[in-house]
Amino acid sequence: MPIMEPYRIKVVEPIPITTRPYREKAMARAGYNPFNLTAEDVTIDFLSDSGTNALSAEQQAAGMRADETYAGARSFFRFKDVVSELTGYEHMFPVHQGRAAERILFTTLLKPGQVSVSNTHFDTTRANVEMAGCVARDLPCQEAADLDSDAPFKGDIDLEALRGALAGPDDVGVVLMTITNNGGGGQPVSMANLEAVAKLAAEFGVPFFLDAARFAENAWLVNQREPGYRDVSPREIARKAFALADGCVASLKKDGIVHIGGMLAMRDPELAKRCELVLIATEGFRTYGGLSGRDLDMLAQGLLEVTEPTYLRARAEATAYLADQARLGGVDSVRPAGVHALYLNAGRLLPHIPPERFPGHALACELYLAGGIRCAELGSLYLGELDDDGNLLKPAPYELVRMAIPRRVYTQSHLEYVAEVLTGIAKAPEKVPGYRLTEVPKLLRHFNCRLEQASD
Ligand SMILES: *Cc1c(COP(=O)(O)O)cnc(C)c1O
Repeated sequence: MPIMEPYRIKVVEPIPITTRPYREKAMARAGYNPFNLTAEDVTIDFLSDSGTNALSAEQQAAGMRADETYAGARSFFRFKDVVSELTGYEHMFPVHQGRAAERILFTTLLKPGQVSVSNTHFDTTRANVEMAGCVARDLPCQEAADLDSDAPFKGDIDLEALRGALAGPDDVGVVLMTITNNGGGGQPVSMANLEAVAKLAAEFGVPFFLDAARFAENAWLVNQREPGYRDVSPREIARKAFALADGCVASLKKDGIVHIGGMLAMRDPELAKRCELVLIATEGFRTYGGLSGRDLDMLAQGLLEVTEPTYLRARAEATAYLADQARLGGVDSVRPAGVHALYLNAGRLLPHIPPERFPGHALACELYLAGGIRCAELGSLYLGELDDDGNLLKPAPYELVRMAIPRRVYTQSHLEYVAEVLTGIAKAPEKVPGYRLTEVPKLLRHFNCRLEQASD
């Protein structure tokens, strides 16, 4: 059965169709770092699903109705009503994106020296915990370590380890559950796991927050995979998940289906008061938090559309389809397929490239050279330990490439094209060269480094 996108196209944007010689030049100019490519160089952009979404006609209309009043804009109250209905949290602040919510929450809630415990902290989340003088500890479940297992909820936290952390000598200041678990292969968290976390957090008197960037995609996978939820709608499941926690931070550039936005929400009125002061000092007044009325109104509409079962089904099926086609073509990815991204197992496809020649990065570069497809490495280049000259001291546990899929942007034929390019690479993987670093910045290495092809 073809996947039928549950929408038709009303506005189009041409995508660059380029040749291999063009791409070879572009990649050399970019220092073999896909982050340095420009939009005109890229045919299919799988670098991120964040803020890359396509708006609906209703969202555009909502944008036209928006109210740009400085304080108390109608747009804010429309956004607030949708968030209240969805989350049940009494206190809610818009922010310009997820990391602003993280910064405000952690600097307000945590005391220096405390520990934040999570299934997996996203990288900006970890950075904001650390900038608050605290420690971020990841406790992924055992199943997460096996890339090939079809366990349904590999995003869960290890409950035994969580109890150990809460009962141990450390001062745990927050338990943060990332749904879906982006740093952990985009795998979902079960409702059973969230319920157990809520219980443990309450037992030890520690606040429990969600990092809810992909709350709707998590709800869809619960509906599909967790016993007892088949007849519960994704929206109802999402509401139940929010109800278990004391509050949330969220990047709405993902499941808000917009280009910019985020939120911080909670039950505790006293904590909300303190967060509001930081918000006003650093983001904006409490009724806009760094967003325009237009953003708030488009978000209010996006947050309604994102839990539509027909939309979620088509999106999940598209990702699963790409995973299947890639596997048939000879490229494995982390199983089972999630929703927002496919994590290709480059280490397995390119065994002739040792970790110090960055097999994940090599596959990401090859996808661009062969097909104009841009994606990001999640392997030793990003997560390994390097010395100042770019020599690898400790490889990452896996050599992966993340293909993040923007919402409502690409159709099945685009995915077929990507599968074909992958299949082509898998026909002669030994031809793919490794890479060597030529410029190694100390900070934010993977965004700013430059490389060259290595013939050794
Ligand atoms: C994207 C993301 C963030 C950060 O949000 P931004 O809007 O990019 O600042 C935090 N957590 C998760 C799980 C994310 O996916």
